[in-house]
Amino acid sequence: MSISSSLGTIPRPRKQMESSVTTIQQSDTLIGWQGIRFTLPPDWNLTSFSLESESGYLRVDSPGDSGLCAQVRWQTAGRNTRKIRTMYDILAPHARKLFRRPEPVVPPPDLKATLEKILKASKKEASKSKMTFESVIKSERTEGVAGERTAASFSFVGGGRGQGKIWHCKVCNRIVVAQIVGTQKDSRAIQAIASQFLGSLSCHSSTEYDLWALYDLNVEIPKTFKLNSQKVMSGNLQLSFMHGGEMIRVERWGLATMVLKKFTIEEWLRANAYINAGKALVQESACNEKHAGVESQLKVKLFDKIKLFKLARGFALPMASHYAGCMWLCPEEQKLFMVEVLTRKKNPELMHKVASSCNCHSGSSL
Ligand SMILES: [Zn+2]
Ligand SMILES: [Zn+2]
Repeated sequence: MSISSSLGTIPRPRKQMESSVTTIQQSDTLIGWQGIRFTLPPDWNLTSFSLESESGYLRVDSPGDSGLCAQVRWQTAGRNTRKIRTMYDILAPHARKLFRRPEPVVPPPDLKATLEKILKASKKEASKSKMTFESVIKSERTEGVAGERTAASFSFVGGGRGQGKIWHCKVCNRIVVAQIVGTQKDSRAIQAIASQFLGSLSCHSSTEYDLWALYDLNVEIPKTFKLNSQKVMSGNLQLSFMHGGEMIRVERWGLATMVLKKFTIEEWLRANAYINAGKALVQESACNEKHAGVESQLKVKLFDKIKLFKLARGFALPMASHYAGCMWLCPEEQKLFMVEVLTRKKNPELMHKVASSCNCHSGSSL
């Protein structure tokens, strides 16, 4: 399993810069990314992530200088690693379908070998610093609600200390390696946190939606839409998803009071809409069950279609022709949220569905 990934690194911390910290409740940190979801104790910070869904990496650091961190690596287990596809490879699945023959059984991945490879790399690092390194891999077990996981726990000491688990999931066909890492003296903390973290970690969603949760953005997006770009900046989070020529974009601004001193919500929606909203009608709207705000529905003009076409790298004709966007202020968190959908058929319901899933603050409506 390759453990290297293209990583996005996030400067930390930013929570203090964005909000009145005193109003934030001490709730667990919820992370959702590429179908992976888990919880950690309050105020842990996502510090790096990869964009790909097939194979990726997440790192979440504990608050302060304790040096504890949670790491998750995942990779889709290979079906056929041969790069050159023969005519047989192409035709065989169709023939099997035609004659109702089952797909050939794919041998389960060798978890022990994968883990040994990872631990060997850690051992090498430890030996560079002239430190001893010891690891224990427990025997494989079947786990999960429907026995979908083959899993093995592991721990190591040397140049630090870690406790984690590797598993293969039959449902999503991912190999996942998850661990809590800290210093030698963190033994008890690692044990306690690993228990919560590994117990909460799921590698796939059982619905048609994936949870995307980082910092205080928490939203569900249809699985068919893949992450296309992200912006994680002080005061501004943005996730953009594409499916063919269609798009869903979710954005969150901190410091809403400062924004709303200069702009109305309507002006802020016009200024930040993915398409040129110009003088389009923006009307009041019940964006979701928690908040009222504004929304706009428009036909996508040629200029914006070209922009979308470039983003989809030209592979997705026809492009979306309908736009629906809404924006609301969450007074509880003093943040502004925007959800936009660009679809081939008019689909404001999708916008409202995504907006409704957006858990902008804990608790019920105003
Ligand atoms: Zn899974
Ligand atoms: Zn809210």
